[in-house]
Amino acid sequence: MKDILSLGLDELRDLMLSIEESAFRASQIFNWVYKKRTLSFSEMMNLPKALRGELSGLLYFPPMEVVEKQVSKDGTEKFLWKLEDENQIESVVLRHPRHVTFCISSQVGCPLNCSFCATGAGGFSRNLSTGEIVSQVIHMERAIGGPVDNIVFMGMGEPFLNENSVYKAIDILHDPRGRNLGFRRFTISTAGIPEGIKKLADSGMEIRLSVSLHSAKDVLRSSLMPLNRVHSLDSLREALVYYQQKTGNRITFEYALISGMNDTAGDVAQLIKYLRGIKSFINIIPVNPVNPDFERPSDQKVADFEEGLRAAGFESAARQEKGTDIDAACGQLRQRRRG
Ligand code: SAH
Repeated sequence: MKDILSLGLDELRDLMLSIEESAFRASQIFNWVYKKRTLSFSEMMNLPKALRGELSGLLYFPPMEVVEKQVSKDGTEKFLWKLEDENQIESVVLRHPRHVTFCISSQVGCPLNCSFCATGAGGFSRNLSTGEIVSQVIHMERAIGGPVDNIVFMGMGEPFLNENSVYKAIDILHDPRGRNLGFRRFTISTAGIPEGIKKLADSGMEIRLSVSLHSAKDVLRSSLMPLNRVHSLDSLREALVYYQQKTGNRITFEYALISGMNDTAGDVAQLIKYLRGIKSFINIIPVNPVNPDFERPSDQKVADFEEGLRAAGFESAARQEKGTDIDAACGQLRQRRRG
């Protein structure tokens, strides 16, 4: 049995030809899944009944069951899903006045172990398959009863550690013959893997890049993000410059502000120095305190940090993370469920 959501249209065509069906059947099936969001063969009414039966023996939709759904006061909806092997992942629907964004996972857990992140604390289980990534999108579009505008890989996991499945999922969702989501609607968020960033730059796909920076000081960043011991700020910066030269795209930086740790005037100065010459947008997010070592700074500190960036000519926004009343921070829902 093959997972249908891992197959592109061309692979689906080959499969149809291999069972002596016409290639046109593949287009019909692709339509049902990616235009009508159908997740069962029995509903594909323009296929002969015998073929529907045959398909059910050849292909399956990767099972994803809602374990829990939370809805925040600001409209954020968070899903905890159970996969075929009982593993659990999270995805989030974020509502803005004129568009909807899905925040989706690329791995079950995460191996990077950033000290402030609930996902890292839960350890790493495995990569998600292409179908499991695509499935999050289709299931949530069904749940909200409409199309998504933007997709960000900011749920669980490090997308550049599961590149094949992530890129294939993007390709499938991008296919103009199906779901037809433009590459610019996708954002890959990385903890900072230089080779991944360079490969994205070389891919020619206009996928947006977001980098979780959190500090521009190597010693501090290494203590927050162990990955920095292997990929220092210098090597990260070199990859960012390469990406920007190739794509011209502005890069978004995530900076979780942690009281007394990375929120001083010295931290802003270092950040400005680091980003000088890179077309940037900085998201300042008061840290979601998932453990007692990390506290949110005062509103004044947040405002000062933002003002420092603005005075140096950088665009930034300080915002409360959406859905803070519903454990919407990365990995929190799963953490609480596990107790
Ligand atoms: N591995 C990727 C994507 C997943 S994490 C990455 O690192 O970018 C999604 C975002 O949530 C990252 O910016 C991460 O640093 C941030 N994050 C994780 N825990 C957080 C917390 N407790 N408070 C604020 N942001 C957090």
